[in-house]
Amino acid sequence: MKRVIVIGGGPAGIFAALAAAKQGHSVILLEQNEKLGKKLFITGKGRCNITNAGEMENLFGNVVSNPKFLYSAFYGFDNFQVIDFFENHGVKTKIERGNRVFPLSDHSSDVIAALEKALRQAEVEVKLHRKVERILVSQGRAEGVMLSEGEKLLGEAVIIATGGFSYQSTGARGDGYRFAKETGHTLTSLYPALVPMNAREEYVAQLQGLSLKNVEITVKDKNKILFKEFGEMLFTHFGVSGPLVLSASSQVGKVLLQRELSMYIDLKPALSWEQLDKRLLREFESGKNKQLKNVLTNLLPAKMRPLIPLLSGVSQEKKVNEITKGERSEILRTFKEFPLTLTGLRDFNEAIITKGGVSTKEINPSTMESKILPGVFFAGEVMDVDALTGGYNLQIAWSTGYLAGSSV
Ligand SMILES: Cc1cc2nc3c(=O)[nH]c(=O)nc-3n(C[C@H](O)[C@H](O)[C@H](O)COP(=O)(O)OP(=O)(O)OC[C@H]3O[C@@H](n4cnc5c(N)ncnc54)[C@H](O)[C@@H]3O)c2cc1C
Repeated sequence: MKRVIVIGGGPAGIFAALAAAKQGHSVILLEQNEKLGKKLFITGKGRCNITNAGEMENLFGNVVSNPKFLYSAFYGFDNFQVIDFFENHGVKTKIERGNRVFPLSDHSSDVIAALEKALRQAEVEVKLHRKVERILVSQGRAEGVMLSEGEKLLGEAVIIATGGFSYQSTGARGDGYRFAKETGHTLTSLYPALVPMNAREEYVAQLQGLSLKNVEITVKDKNKILFKEFGEMLFTHFGVSGPLVLSASSQVGKVLLQRELSMYIDLKPALSWEQLDKRLLREFESGKNKQLKNVLTNLLPAKMRPLIPLLSGVSQEKKVNEITKGERSEILRTFKEFPLTLTGLRDFNEAIITKGGVSTKEINPSTMESKILPGVFFAGEVMDVDALTGGYNLQIAWSTGYLAGSSV
């Protein structure tokens, strides 16, 4: 039996503690906050999208950084085992659109309560209000941790599950990155991901609050397409947000940190250019003497209507029977390629996750143990792994936590 110290009472740390206790080790779980799972509580808008019930291939397909590194972790404790775990601990689950798994109650607090009960049953010693200050090293091995009050705790293994940098009020202040660095590990560059993006155009403010369903967005770096997908988005006072935009940010963020990118919204993706042109013509013919702005009521939400004529260079007062073919094709273009300039990512406090972290090259993928300092293990967001929305980031936390705890 070994003494195992787990730093961080989020999903990764809790699962690491449970798995280590299952191996018969004596486990201490240290959390700086007054309670466990502060970030878990706000996941999925308070409903907690626990995992995704898709096939294994789909899990890997939704991991953006270093999916291959997660091979052993995902196969060792997969999404269906996560669902079984919660069902067996009294949390009934349901599957929603896109195979997203939620507690039937829609309360993340039920997920946290089940985890707390499991920790008690496993006799994990949970210590709240305990902030780890540094990792103690002796003769090339981790030998424990020093707490902020100066107290030393010794153990044969230290599992770092301190999360990332985003939503710092939940405790994610990047301590784990510092621990990793101080013990000789490399960090890849850290930046916000699954995060809203700023846009330059002044008309964005006019669109604030407008949510668009069933649109397709394309993000381009000059002529190169970096992202193209169909879904839902939202305008905010600074730019764009919503599921589609968050996904885009994970794919284009790295380039956007260096230069501005163009974004185009196809407002009518179900219609080809030809079909939409015919539709416009039909609308124009049925209301020959109407002004353009009145014809657009059938085609666009109110906030968008003044902008289409403006960006097409056609007066909204113009009668549709006076609109030339050239003008109509400009209107068509604005419908299919509504333009925005992305100027940057919003900051960590608005980001669902942190991209980057402890380099996966320095972690053994079969055990989650450090290749640099024996006795140190990593789990969850502190590592250079991240995924899209849909329950995949929590699956990373459960799977890597479980593998780290089982490998001690
Ligand atoms: C608003 C929001 C919604 C989200 N929704 C979802 C969702 O529905 N589904 C999904 O899959 N993912 C979601 N995520 C992402 C998911 O929450 C994270 O991927 C996940 O919480 C990472 O788990 P973790 O255990 O690695 O880190 P965390 O959950 O951040 O836990 C780390 C813990 O370590 C503690 N800690 C840090 N430093 C120290 C220290 N020095 N000493 C002691 N303790 C320390 C922190 O206080 C914290 O409790 C969401 C994220 C956000 C911000």
